[in-house]
Amino acid sequence: MLEIINPATGECFERVEEAGAAEVDVAVAAAHAAFPAWRDMAPPERSRLLRALARKLEDAHESLARLESTNTGKPLSSARGEVGIAIETFHYYAGAGERLTGDTIPVAGGLDITLREPLGVVGLITPWNFPLPVASWKLAPALAAGNTVVLKPAELTPLTALEFGRLALEAGIPEGVINVVAGRGETAGQRLVEHPDVAKIAFTGSTATGRTIMKRAADTIKRVTLELGGKSANVVFADADIEAAAAAAPMAVFDNAGQDCCARSRILVQKNVYEDFMARLEPGVKAVRVGPPEDTAADMGPLISAAHRDKVAAFVDDAAPVAFRGSTPEGPGFWFAPTVLAPMSNSARAAAEEIFGPVVCVIPFEDEADAVRLANETSYGLSGSIWTRDNARALRMARAVKAGVLSVNSNSSVRVSTPFGGMKQSGVGRELGPHALDYYSEIKNIFLAIGD
Ligand code: NAD
Repeated sequence: MLEIINPATGECFERVEEAGAAEVDVAVAAAHAAFPAWRDMAPPERSRLLRALARKLEDAHESLARLESTNTGKPLSSARGEVGIAIETFHYYAGAGERLTGDTIPVAGGLDITLREPLGVVGLITPWNFPLPVASWKLAPALAAGNTVVLKPAELTPLTALEFGRLALEAGIPEGVINVVAGRGETAGQRLVEHPDVAKIAFTGSTATGRTIMKRAADTIKRVTLELGGKSANVVFADADIEAAAAAAPMAVFDNAGQDCCARSRILVQKNVYEDFMARLEPGVKAVRVGPPEDTAADMGPLISAAHRDKVAAFVDDAAPVAFRGSTPEGPGFWFAPTVLAPMSNSARAAAEEIFGPVVCVIPFEDEADAVRLANETSYGLSGSIWTRDNARALRMARAVKAGVLSVNSNSSVRVSTPFGGMKQSGVGRELGPHALDYYSEIKNIFLAIGD
């Protein structure tokens, strides 16, 4: 049995039957049996069903948001936005799936045609920080490309995934096409990774787990896509709009209590504007309101668990100096105040490792070359921002920084219609946009001899 905790109170509010390896086997068998009919369904009919599912999510928007915010502690407004992202993702791939085509390639003596074929049963393993959006980024393209799926949500936050499974059946998605197993990583997750009838694992989570999954998937030569951790840089040049950069910096890392793989958790500031930037950053950090989901003015909630809060706290205990920090409510939730560590060295543990909490390191730099060096001096490569008024510099930086998703004079990371994913140890493959469909289909090449 999984005990589901409300992080804003520390209390158990729900219990869920726990799936183990045997339940995963049943789910994979169901997905395997459902695959041929789903694969062979005319694409417009599959799209019609995906649109029907999107409409079911629209009808359940508020109830899903309330369930998610209770389970994760995040502000209700954030949870509403996340359900909105899931809905948009299903609408997008309902359309994109209808336009999946192969190529015709003229060759000597004949014609090559390519078919894009689905992979089969795809295992989806997701984390607790953005449960519904991250699941939908895998579910929607996988289904649109003709695969059937087994989704294993994080053991701390399985509720919206289970509700999603019920809504899918109500929308008319045939039984067996979408299966949800609420279990732990080392049992249910591992079985999914090792199962011989699973063709691919699409995983989002920590780099350590991604490494384990990649190794175990090797035994059956499974396809894997991995969306992993990050330690992204928010680079502020002296020629930037410093006020705008400082105003945007707090929520670029404290959104979702810093439990965001794209969090800009290192702020690199050019030395000659360091004091100015810090003076503008401080009031913004102190104004971040930390509160429970029912606090409609809250900017961020608690951390996901007591264990995670202790892990985050250890980074701050180890690291001098705390420049300034915000405040938290009193009481039993897993609260942690927004915290700024500055000035920091890029090689300090808090600046090098993913903290996944509301802690940001500010690191001064000399010039553009120094900024590139520091931004890239990490094993991660997920996202980042560049603040400058010089467009040529922005483009030079964007080309030089090894990260999959960058933004200029903005902290935006995710748009459903554009590709998302990491370089280096932040991952393998891309989600979202038209590119995601490449990772849920395989190209078959057929030669037709027609003579010269
Ligand atoms: P985690 O790696 O502990 O768990 C993620 C999922 O993997 C869970 O469902 C868990 O049950 C499962 N799992 C754990 N061990 C497993 C195993 N051996 N085999 C199969 N499955 C296993 O990550 P988390 O703590 O839930 O999430 C936080 C991490 O996720 C952070 O590192 C964060 O950066 C990353 N993340 C990345 C992205 C991205 O898109 N790059 C998005 C969100 C979160």
